[in-house]
Amino acid sequence: MAKLTVLMYHATYANDVELNAIDAADRPYAVALDTFTDQLHSIQRAGYTIVSQTQVEQGLESIVKPLLLTFDDGHRSNAIQVTPLLASLGLSGLFFVTSDFCRLRNDYCNDDELRHMLDAGMILGTHGVSHKFMADLSDEESRGELEESLNWLQEVLAQPVNCVSFPGGRYGDRELEIAKRLGYRWVHDSTFGLHTLNSEESFHLVQRIPVRQQHSSADLLALIDPNSKQFRRTRAVSFAKTTLKRVIGNGNYDALYRRFAS
Ligand SMILES: [Zn+2]
Repeated sequence: MAKLTVLMYHATYANDVELNAIDAADRPYAVALDTFTDQLHSIQRAGYTIVSQTQVEQGLESIVKPLLLTFDDGHRSNAIQVTPLLASLGLSGLFFVTSDFCRLRNDYCNDDELRHMLDAGMILGTHGVSHKFMADLSDEESRGELEESLNWLQEVLAQPVNCVSFPGGRYGDRELEIAKRLGYRWVHDSTFGLHTLNSEESFHLVQRIPVRQQHSSADLLALIDPNSKQFRRTRAVSFAKTTLKRVIGNGNYDALYRRFAS
């Protein structure tokens, strides 16, 4: 079975003014456009093949070191910086957009920009309505987040959507069941790791590698190499955090995290 490397980006920025306009909580995950451009070239020089979600759906058997680019939240830089860059290089990315951010905020992609991204060869998926962590919500609210965001995006794009990523990577068996029932086929996690692609399956839970602002191209190449110390260490920490959240609950985990972070 093919191993797929999936990178998780968020916003990009071209200068400090743009960086400072990004919500403070999201800034650690915003990547400078120059750095992002350099990372694309470095990834390709290192022998990876940047694949589209369409190629992933078709199976990756003959593709060398396949790597998929994903972007969470739907920040406007996805439409005005990343999409033109990827399109000019003949590449595609998978963008998970939060419906209320897109509908209500000027710094997120509007309907026209989302349709333009689709026309430029990008693939879009949902990322909830409100960006609330679904595992903390009632059954009804959790279903609403997955269903309303899906209905909204399918209407904007006038075509079916089958990809979702969970805000904060917070989900449980309930969210997976709801996602399956609604027809999602590709569910993206925030658990660190490589994804093993089994093309026989109809429902895929995809592990990803988050890219942070401080990652240089060299850092990123080390981080995605399963034989590196960085990969093993980050995967161990991610596994410990996920286990702790499951054992003590998301709310308690967040309280504990704030206590140690402050
Ligand atoms: Zn998010």
